[in-house]
Amino acid sequence: MPMKSMECPFCNVANINLRKFYENELFLAVYNLRPLVSGHCLVMPKRHVKSLLELNESEKRGLLSFLDRVIFIALKYADAYQFDLICQEGVSAGQSLDHAHFHVIPRKTDDGIAVAKKEWLEEFNKSERDVRKNLNTEETERIVKRLKLIVIEHRIQIEAL
Ligand SMILES: [Zn+2]
Repeated sequence: MPMKSMECPFCNVANINLRKFYENELFLAVYNLRPLVSGHCLVMPKRHVKSLLELNESEKRGLLSFLDRVIFIALKYADAYQFDLICQEGVSAGQSLDHAHFHVIPRKTDDGIAVAKKEWLEEFNKSERDVRKNLNTEETERIVKRLKLIVIEHRIQIEAL
């Protein structure tokens, strides 16, 4: 399995560097291009793997702790206490990019997104494909800067997760 794929937006350093707010040696966290709600982030392995099932032993061991940390940051950012954690594996599950990733989506009771599973997934999938919802570079930079500040302010708490 190659480390990077030429066509993959998640392996594209310029694209990722604009959105990245947290990383370790194995994983990175970026702000989503088309956030469904405030604080909608993505977590992915740095290695280009299509499926979670292709993660190696150290990635498997490190994943949950890394997810914990990003969830902490995203919830702080959104001032939320609840979240959806979504991983779409394969076309039939809605996977649209060949680089495994999790969506971390802060949720609030008044966020206006249907709680019922069917409607919620429809809304999520629609939002993921709606290029009109793309954040511009300026908005992305502003949000990523705030996320990085949260990482600095809460570093001790985050690293204990
Ligand atoms: Zn990739």
